[in-house]
Amino acid sequence: MTEQRIKNLQALLSDQGLDAMLVSSPENRRYLSGFTGSAGSVLVTPNRAWMIVDFRYLEQVQVQCKGLEVIRQGDTVADTLRDVIEQEHLGRVGLEDHALSHRDARQFLNLEKTVTNLRIVSAGGLVEQLRTRKDITEVDTIRKAAQIADAGFEHILSVIRPGVTEIEVAFELETFMRRQGASHIAFDTIVASGWRGAWPHGVASDKLLASGELVTLDFGAVVDGYCSDITRTVCIGEPTTEQRSLYDHVLESQVRALHALRVGMTGREADAVARSYLSDHGLGEAFGHSLGHGLGLEVHEAPRLSKVSDDILTEGMVVTIEPGAYLPQFGGVRIEDDVWFTPDGNVEILTHAPKQLICL
Ligand code: ZN
Ligand code: ZN
Repeated sequence: MTEQRIKNLQALLSDQGLDAMLVSSPENRRYLSGFTGSAGSVLVTPNRAWMIVDFRYLEQVQVQCKGLEVIRQGDTVADTLRDVIEQEHLGRVGLEDHALSHRDARQFLNLEKTVTNLRIVSAGGLVEQLRTRKDITEVDTIRKAAQIADAGFEHILSVIRPGVTEIEVAFELETFMRRQGASHIAFDTIVASGWRGAWPHGVASDKLLASGELVTLDFGAVVDGYCSDITRTVCIGEPTTEQRSLYDHVLESQVRALHALRVGMTGREADAVARSYLSDHGLGEAFGHSLGHGLGLEVHEAPRLSKVSDDILTEGMVVTIEPGAYLPQFGGVRIEDDVWFTPDGNVEILTHAPKQLICL
């Protein structure tokens, strides 16, 4: 599985005119090698691939990184890289600048001064591009993470009531998901009740839930490094006409966006489906964020589904669809599902928690 990913990167190297690429981002490193340690680099040339780690990880890489040759790191990664560059006669070597510390980046650039014909170039984004198309193993893992999130939603309905704090709700949801097999939570759980619901990213606070409030819950589980990301909004007690109407409009915009999704459309086109519906109902201004994002080893990754995104939605991608509407002082509604563009060009929804307005 990682062999195929390395092959895919090797194919990209020649397109980019690179003799090698040093991969340093933790998610990209894990994607290419299976290595879950917290330090190390993957070096890929058109014919070979090495895992460079310090002595702490030598045992671990033997178990996790079957398809790669292992090099024990010298005093610095730059020293080790220089040795391989000289031995393999590498000319143009790509780096992931966005994932490097200032010090490491400087040491790598300094290699140009001591190694003849070496050019260090910026090649960030190449592995991220490969990661947008998930293989079946990845999709199955995200599916598990989504099932845990669905179960978490069902469980938390019995906890939500007037008088509990948002933090208690978040903690109960998180511990439940951990008991169900999540290794981590995907991000700080959002529990935004009443007026706080107007803050799209209101991480749980000590505010008490109260009767008559809409409560937005946005959370996710991590399984084998892969994230799920789901949002549901519920009502404590009976909703007012305004609350019901806000909910129905957001739900309708979300369902329309889900139905409109097609392989080949751009992130901008997908975003426009939900946005134009909400705008037609006076909620354009209230939908102040983008429609969705790619989901995988990171909770926010390529592609983007937004007003300005030219990213093309293709087979294998897993993305979120999450329109929302936020009215200051009044509150907010957001509904988010995770979807997969299957290899045969269909769209499968991976999250299944109910979406009719639940009144507790
Ligand atoms: Zn979310
Ligand atoms: Zn999201």
